Amino acid sequence: MKIAIIGAGFAGLASAYFLLESGKASVTIFEADRVGAGASGVCGGLLHPYPGFAARRSSRAMDALAVAKQLIRVAESHTPKRVASHHGIIRKSMNDEQKRRLIDHCGQWGDIERVEDNLFAIHSGITVHSENYLEGLKNAVIKMGAELLIQKIASLEELKGFDQIVIAAGFGIREFPECQHLNVKFLKGQALRMKGSSPMGKSFISRGYIAHLSEEEFFDLGSTYEREFLDDKPNLEKTKELLAEKLSYCKEAQVMECRAGVRVASRNHYLPIMEKVAPKIYVFTALGSRGLLYHGLYGRDLACSILLV
Ligand SMILES: Cc1cc2nc3c(=O)[nH]c(=O)nc-3n(C[C@H](O)[C@H](O)[C@H](O)COP(=O)(O)OP(=O)(O)OC[C@H]3O[C@@H](n4cnc5c(N)ncnc54)[C@H](O)[C@@H]3O)c2cc1C
Repeated sequence: MKIAIIGAGFAGLASAYFLLESGKASVTIFEADRVGAGASGVCGGLLHPYPGFAARRSSRAMDALAVAKQLIRVAESHTPKRVASHHGIIRKSMNDEQKRRLIDHCGQWGDIERVEDNLFAIHSGITVHSENYLEGLKNAVIKMGAELLIQKIASLEELKGFDQIVIAAGFGIREFPECQHLNVKFLKGQALRMKGSSPMGKSFISRGYIAHLSEEEFFDLGSTYEREFLDDKPNLEKTKELLAEKLSYCKEAQVMECRAGVRVASRNHYLPIMEKVAPKIYVFTALGSRGLLYHGLYGRDLACSILLV
């Protein structure tokens, strides 16, 4: 079966991996710019079961974490670079409701612990170096036989020769008529790459995040909740304003780069959208703030749905 995938971010590469692993598909990935040109390339890399403002434990969290770890191992064996740090993540509760929910999780699950009044250690948390992870996963799927073409797809007519098409184009889905019915929202996120050692020994989530990869001499400060934005380009002044509190803890570190991306999220729920939108055409999007948690699990589910056809 000949399958075209549009987009080489987390969604596109995970789908490619599981389609190829079946041995029943040949895969061509079309990427408009470069691997990780979208949200995946600027992702803070925080992977854990309790993301999102509500701090709920995500559905199918353990399965999702297990599949994400499987893909991390695949990436690690296809790049010499550091892909992930398994040292946990600290989450600070920002209001009483978050705090109550996180306390409940501590009573119920073994991977989260209250360490101070409003600080919670998520022991299962992993910080992924998104660029290195994408590079490793790209190398893996190419080794498994995928073709990667740098080509922007303007219309699905261009892909007539394929048996099945997967649209995994992130913010790019807004340009496809086949995706217009999806009830999604677009949220801009911006991050500062900082040179120096991070103020905490671990990655930290409060309003925004600090992504800390141990043994690296840089860390990321990020914020992902801009609902109104004019474009997807980085804006240093705006990002400094959004991250003013976090920057005040990092006086010793220098801003190296400001980066931006747009994440897609469903308006109805916090889960990704993975559906058949027309005969032979699937869409895999809306990974929201759970891109790392869900790309593997839903990528695997998608591959199963396509191969069962
Ligand atoms: C600043 C920031 C921080 C984040 N931090 C985290 C985090 O810590 N943890 C977490 O789990 N999630 C995080 N996220 C969310 C996560 O990054 C996204 O959920 C995830 O990257 C979405 O992956 P995707 O593959 O769906 O889309 P994308 O990564 O956007 O990939 C889409 C790809 O499709 C390509 N494309 C678009 N249109 C076309 C076309 N017409 N033809 C060909 N190619 C096309 C694009 O160039 C792009 O490479 C963050 C997001 C941002 C912006």
